[in-house]
Amino acid sequence: MKDFIYQASSPRVVFGADALQHLEREIDLLGARRALILSTPPQAAGAHALAQRLGDRAAGVFAQAVMHVPIESAQAARVEAERLQADCAIALGGGSTIGLGKALALTSGLPILAIPTTYAGSEMTPIYGITEVGLKKTGRDPRVLPKTVIYDPTLSSTLPVALSVCSGLNAIAHAAEGLYAADSNPILDLMAEDGVRALVQALPVLHQQPQQAEARAQALYGAWLCGSVLGQVSMALHHKLCHTLGGSFNLPHAETHSVVLPHALAFNLGHAPQAAQRLARALGLDQPGAVAGALWDLAQSLGAPMSLRELGLQATDVDTACALAMTQQYPNPRPLDARAVRQLLQQAYEGVRPSAST
Ligand code: NAD
Repeated sequence: MKDFIYQASSPRVVFGADALQHLEREIDLLGARRALILSTPPQAAGAHALAQRLGDRAAGVFAQAVMHVPIESAQAARVEAERLQADCAIALGGGSTIGLGKALALTSGLPILAIPTTYAGSEMTPIYGITEVGLKKTGRDPRVLPKTVIYDPTLSSTLPVALSVCSGLNAIAHAAEGLYAADSNPILDLMAEDGVRALVQALPVLHQQPQQAEARAQALYGAWLCGSVLGQVSMALHHKLCHTLGGSFNLPHAETHSVVLPHALAFNLGHAPQAAQRLARALGLDQPGAVAGALWDLAQSLGAPMSLRELGLQATDVDTACALAMTQQYPNPRPLDARAVRQLLQQAYEGVRPSAST
């Protein structure tokens, strides 16, 4: 066994069907009295319903969260929090809303209570991103980690099937890269493997029966585990590629992860045998070499987008994306060379089934 350092850093987690019933208790436990509720515009009705329920405990609603946290929306949220004298923020939504909460926490110090409604996992990480003049800057800061997370699977039952599938595959990507992270440890490996197992079992059920309560709970549980892994170890090639594709070509977050993941794993897993073994176990496969292809098959069977082309990338962007992804150095199980990364991106662009020897 390799040497490792393990330092737990997790929000308080309240998990369960109808866990939202404990919201008032959780606000009290934070020592807060006036919560500003954050959401995206499409989830504003849910945010206002929550505010109505909370009565005096709600300072107001700020329903202007958008993808990638533009600095203007972070500043506007802070002004609103000050105007309403909020002493905590509730982020009701996916990674975009929780990202806004993190930006608010970073500058105001307000504690965040997150109520995730997708499987992106941001609520479990101290990673924040803020976009200024078209450039998304990311960083890690313990102040942005939510103090409390309420996981209530009932709330994710409205997430459209297509987004549920891609968001679940996005979560699997966190765990898969966590398994070969240079700074991984055995505890996070357990969480990663079980997180992947939970999601690969739940997603086919949700694809057929989006309201199935047990599958919603299983998927959210998996998302929690995978998000915990993301928050505690360094990510590698897959996340760097997706960050580049999202940031520079404005490709949608979860869908991009979903397309790239099998190709990134085909690239890396031959150099990460233990990660391949754990992933094979989680997927119920005998052969670790079959993992990348099996994930591609799973995504296809769930109706996920299969190519970067259908997400809007242009053929001429592939070279640029490759060059951008190669500008930074970071640990990756397989040494990065531009020709091989270019080939990976080409396969993801075309949406062909990856071979293990990409
Ligand atoms: P999202 O938060 O942008 O949500 C996508 C859409 O789905 C939005 O319109 C939202 O209102 C809607 N939605 C969310 N939950 C719903 C529900 N239950 N029912 C109906 N509609 C619902 O998408 P996301 O994939 O969760 O988050 C993506 C963003 O999160 C990206 O900006 C990404 O960079 C960031 N992210 C950050 C981290 C981190 O650790 N910092 C981790 C993962 C993702």
